[in-house]
Amino acid sequence: MTHVFNFSAGPAVLPKEVLQQAASEMLDWHGSGMSVMEMSHRGPEFISIYKQAEADLRELLAVPANYKILFMQGGGLGQNAVIPLNLLGRVAQPGTIDFVHTGSWSGKSIKEAARYAQVNVAASSQAEGFTRVPDPATWKLTDGAAYLHVCTNETIDGVEYNFVPQPLDGVPLVADMSSHILSRVIDVSKYGVIFAGAQKNIGPAGLTLVIVREDLLEYALPACPSAFHWKNVAEHESMFNTPPTYAIYIAGLVFAHLKRQGGVAAMEARNIEKARLLYEALDRDDFYSNRVEESCRSRMNIPFYLRDESLNDQFLAGAKARGLLQLKGHKSVGGMRASIYNAMPIEGVQALVDYLNEFAGR
Ligand SMILES: *Cc1c(COP(=O)(O)O)cnc(C)c1O
Repeated sequence: MTHVFNFSAGPAVLPKEVLQQAASEMLDWHGSGMSVMEMSHRGPEFISIYKQAEADLRELLAVPANYKILFMQGGGLGQNAVIPLNLLGRVAQPGTIDFVHTGSWSGKSIKEAARYAQVNVAASSQAEGFTRVPDPATWKLTDGAAYLHVCTNETIDGVEYNFVPQPLDGVPLVADMSSHILSRVIDVSKYGVIFAGAQKNIGPAGLTLVIVREDLLEYALPACPSAFHWKNVAEHESMFNTPPTYAIYIAGLVFAHLKRQGGVAAMEARNIEKARLLYEALDRDDFYSNRVEESCRSRMNIPFYLRDESLNDQFLAGAKARGLLQLKGHKSVGGMRASIYNAMPIEGVQALVDYLNEFAGR
């Protein structure tokens, strides 16, 4: 098999060991004679897989006992609709939701929420081309907002929060962590809701994680669909309807793998080093540029531009020839993007750095 490093933003690279284990268990999971894909979600085999995945994730993120972990479907964009439907009951209708607009993904969340409530953009970095998180001292938050919604890592723009936002008293904080969950230590107790599509830093597409504080399960609007009603999903231990069983199984293998690697703190240390290597190479001279303010640069998704954009195709072809895949930037912003999630080894980043240097030299 050819050896490659995959820099895709998502669906993205998974640990080799996890894929090998899944391959070896594909036809017969632990002597059951069944593939995980073929198991009833209510049978003892799958229940044990689910319970272990839940317990391992709870341990990895130190999720407090008064938070539920939900294994859902519908992706991050699905949650954009579901979050208002689950939380707007906290306030008189139509209610106001505060947002901080830091890039493409928070922008999509704003657009969707506006279908259900009044939206207040408390701060935006749009005018500066989404190159930073606006200074929290300038945020214009709403008294009595239903919640404050932030995207703590903007996958397309490469902007990451290096602090935990502080909502007004009594207002829950909702965070889209799709592209950096499990990449750094977080204090879950500071958040009301954390959500993440699995296909960036966890596992296959099709699984969406929601971590929600129990007291926030009481505020769904009557129109909230049952399959997306957090309290209903929580009461059925994510089995109100058929969950994405195979995606949960792979996510569970990833969680176990992360534990063997030393957990989230160990991953964070590696991620800091990987990001340092790559930014250093991009900053070395002005052949490449990353436009994000230094304190807000993402450790996971690193967009960059060639000074001479007419060389883009040549750059990508040369990268591909070396097994450095999926470096093309998102179509909305152009340029290049290297996503260096947990499963990207430092050797992959080093190979990219070597190529960056060589290409610039040429
Ligand atoms: C990828 C992504 C999403 C969208 O996820 P889907 O599963 O495609 O709905 C939302 N938010 C962020 C931050 C993402 O990176």
